[in-house]
Amino acid sequence: MAEFSIIDKHFSAIGHAHEHTRLGVGDDAAIVAIPPGYELAVSTDTMCEGTHFFAGTEPELLAHKLLAVNLSDMAAMGASPKWATLAISLVDSDESWLASFANAFDQYSKAHEVQLIGGDTTQTEGCLTLSLTIMGLLPTGKRLTRSGAQPEDEVYCSGTLGDAALALSYLYDKEPQLSNTLFQQVLPALHTPEPQVALGEKIRDHASACLDISDGLLGDCAHIAKHSNVSIRIDLETLPLSPAYLAYLDQGGSIEHALSGGDDYQLLFTAPPHAAPYLRQAAAELGVTITKIGTVNPASDTPVQLFENNKEKIVKNKSYQHFS
Ligand code: ADP
Ligand code: MG
Repeated sequence: MAEFSIIDKHFSAIGHAHEHTRLGVGDDAAIVAIPPGYELAVSTDTMCEGTHFFAGTEPELLAHKLLAVNLSDMAAMGASPKWATLAISLVDSDESWLASFANAFDQYSKAHEVQLIGGDTTQTEGCLTLSLTIMGLLPTGKRLTRSGAQPEDEVYCSGTLGDAALALSYLYDKEPQLSNTLFQQVLPALHTPEPQVALGEKIRDHASACLDISDGLLGDCAHIAKHSNVSIRIDLETLPLSPAYLAYLDQGGSIEHALSGGDDYQLLFTAPPHAAPYLRQAAAELGVTITKIGTVNPASDTPVQLFENNKEKIVKNKSYQHFS
């Protein structure tokens, strides 16, 4: 199947049709109207076969994850996702693969009211590469950045940490002590993470800084510390862990995945103590758990300090970086 037939058949009418879309797929560029009083948040995330997913991963899972990791960036800014463009480099044009990918992408983008308004379809001799640019709306001036944390703020994270990294480690044959039963319980966190879009929208007027945990908790704390010119204390015993992760710890497992693993796509945010009742209520209304895991302190030589039962631990940040 040739490029234009692929676009027409699979990518021309995906997602939720927005009233502010002036022109979607089919011309040289898409056009969207930004409603008065709003700004556009834009972010791109790319997934390469062999680096971000195993060759042969089901197209439905790729569609979910590609959209989820991008939605998570919108969540981290407090933005409401609206539009996306998809750049896809295919090794071949496998009709049933494309249909499954496009169908899953359509369903999940409808669930988040995102419309696919354009993209690029190319053939590669290398490996399958999927790149999504996502756009969302933010009330003017309401952005939630990494730079607003203040000493005495509290540090929170949503959901639980470490399951995705634990599953990945198992797949690389590095967790022989993890039983297959527990592996099955942590696998959805790796394959189908649920971005915290609604939480991001709710906390954007109350949190002082926010990001989504993609590189690992400690590394992402360091991002907030650097951008906000503060240091962050994390209290190890407060980290929210899933029942499966706790069972794995009981069997002699390591806390490392929760600290430095990454791929969690939970929100890490800071807020002044007086915001706590609002934050807890907002999270409860959404059915999302949030946990206070630490505090913000003035800048220091150790931007992220890890404490266990009030004793400081020395940590090496093993968070992931390309080219390192
Ligand atoms: P151009 O030659 O102007 O770059 P293309 O031929 O690459 O345009 O694409 C034709 C139209 O199809 C454009 O509107 C483009 O945005 C859209 N498009 C191409 N690939 C995709 C895709 N994978 N998903 C969504 N839209 C796509
Ligand atoms: Mg093009």
